[in-house]
Amino acid sequence: MNREIEPFSRLVAEFTKLPGVGAKTAQRYAYSVIRMPEEEVEEFAAALTECKKRIHYCSVCGNYTDKDVCDICATRDKSVICVVKEPKDITAIEKTKDFDGVYHVLHGTLNPLAGIGPDDLTIKQLLRRLDGVKEVILATNLDVEGEATAVYISRLIKPLGIKVTRIAGGISMNSDLEYADEVSLGRAMQNRTEI
Ligand SMILES: [Zn+2]
Repeated sequence: MNREIEPFSRLVAEFTKLPGVGAKTAQRYAYSVIRMPEEEVEEFAAALTECKKRIHYCSVCGNYTDKDVCDICATRDKSVICVVKEPKDITAIEKTKDFDGVYHVLHGTLNPLAGIGPDDLTIKQLLRRLDGVKEVILATNLDVEGEATAVYISRLIKPLGIKVTRIAGGISMNSDLEYADEVSLGRAMQNRTEI
């Protein structure tokens, strides 16, 4: 197909907004949309807009949900809170099937160079959730920002008499939780140490 056809190049341009999708892949996706029956394309488009309209942050933990309070907050052990950088880290830890507590999403990590300070994260909201909490697990990434964030939060929470732990690092584990395999991440959670 001629790439100058306007609706086609527009769709290709939209697909390239997705992570990991270059021009070639975007073009393949666009061709495959053209080949779909019209109802299927409509369902596809509806799924995109529905997803955006109905999904928001859980009012307690900051994870994505289509309810006010997410299923994890509603059903699990609230005495252990695992603190993560982003909602996708929850998906990674959930895959280990090892954790029965609840989460807290910071929506970032401290990064002074990028101008991200404590007030840009949900640290205040975390401090408001500590009633009856026995342990806070700091599962921010094992990179410089993740470490600095863990240290910062532990200094706020430890004086309150709550156990604060940090997930263990390991050579097999990438600094980004998302890319760690389930076994390494499960081990990092199990071998967490008090800080
Ligand atoms: Zn929640």
